[in-house]
Amino acid sequence: MLAVVKEHEGPGFAVKEVPYPVLRDTDVIIKVRSVGICGTDGPILAGTRPVPYPLIPGHEFAGDIVEVGSAVQHLKVGDRVTPCIVIGCGDCDMCIEGKEVLCDNLVETGIHVDGAFAEYVRVPAKVCRKMRDTTTYDQGASVDPVASAYRTVKASRITSKDVCCVYGAGPIGLYAVQLIRLRGVKTVICTDISKDGALTGVNTQLYTKLADLFEMDIIASGGVHTMDDLVALAHTGVSGTVLGRALYTGSIDLKTAITEIDKVKV
Ligand SMILES: [Zn+2]
Ligand SMILES: [Zn+2]
Repeated sequence: MLAVVKEHEGPGFAVKEVPYPVLRDTDVIIKVRSVGICGTDGPILAGTRPVPYPLIPGHEFAGDIVEVGSAVQHLKVGDRVTPCIVIGCGDCDMCIEGKEVLCDNLVETGIHVDGAFAEYVRVPAKVCRKMRDTTTYDQGASVDPVASAYRTVKASRITSKDVCCVYGAGPIGLYAVQLIRLRGVKTVICTDISKDGALTGVNTQLYTKLADLFEMDIIASGGVHTMDDLVALAHTGVSGTVLGRALYTGSIDLKTAITEIDKVKV
């Protein structure tokens, strides 16, 4: 079968023929019908995010089950499914609490094991979710990123009376805008840095002014500078909830953490 493969360190993917997956008792094999390109896939392509080589990336996907392992009870050939990226071990404290994303032995499809940038992909049956007949494959492939935005919005204290600012107009931010509007919020402001990054670092003043004006809540969605900006925002005494969802690789000093942690909800 044809697949996109991360073969070795450094930048680049290869498109090549690879063996069809081997079915195991508790797994299913899915014919991939739709797959998204996540922000995670960029660093894998660039070679800045290490993965086990060779790896087939791709974790936001939907498709049809074409083979079912002998121990699988609840799924059958022909089922239309969208699997969760996270494969929890099922045994650790976090998995038992239902927080598989924090599993001590976390495995993620398309990051630790082969994913869906291929004609077929093998996943454990337990991570598959059946789609309604009316759900398209593209919608199914969007469940993972929408769920990220949904969890963030759900964790906030936004009500229909609030004015809300979404910090970051990438896919997750735009999903957040739609979810916030579904909560009945009338005014949603969505901002982003300009292409040359000119607003980065100046955002704090802008957001402080907006926040003072509207007493608004801020939802932040990813971005390299997001966490720095959020901490800076909290430091200036912004009102409302500052809620960040970001891949943050920097460090926060202890003083900042102690004094600002109650304002920045991550
Ligand atoms: Zn993703
Ligand atoms: Zn676990």
